[in-house]
Amino acid sequence: MSRHPVTIHTSHETFICICCGRTVAPPEYGTHNRNHCPHCLGSRHVDLRPGDRRSGCRAAMDAIGVYVQPSGEWSVIHRCRSCGTLKLNRIGPDDCERALLALAARPLTRLPFPLEVLTAGEPHHG
Ligand SMILES: [Zn+2]
Ligand SMILES: [Zn+2]
Repeated sequence: MSRHPVTIHTSHETFICICCGRTVAPPEYGTHNRNHCPHCLGSRHVDLRPGDRRSGCRAAMDAIGVYVQPSGEWSVIHRCRSCGTLKLNRIGPDDCERALLALAARPLTRLPFPLEVLTAGEPHHG
């Protein structure tokens, strides 16, 4: 079994998204790492630490939610389909706003309780 030379890939390269199959071009502006697909927000489990590409897992990571930092900055929560690892990744400047909104709104469309409980206690006027 031959050993592959260790190469450090930067995110400044075009790749095919493992989740949606679309081609993802390097960021047009901004210098931070592209660590997820701007179309479907999917990612791939390649990092042990952000940007190091040293994970041997390589499985697809689904965007499962949005985390808003106290500063107001949004991050996407990714979960690995294979090993279940959770990761937080800052959103990119060209991430699909529609996909981000759909992700953020998902819990609101799947409430674990009836919506009536929110209005049941409110006083009725008129
Ligand atoms: Zn994608
Ligand atoms: Zn994994």
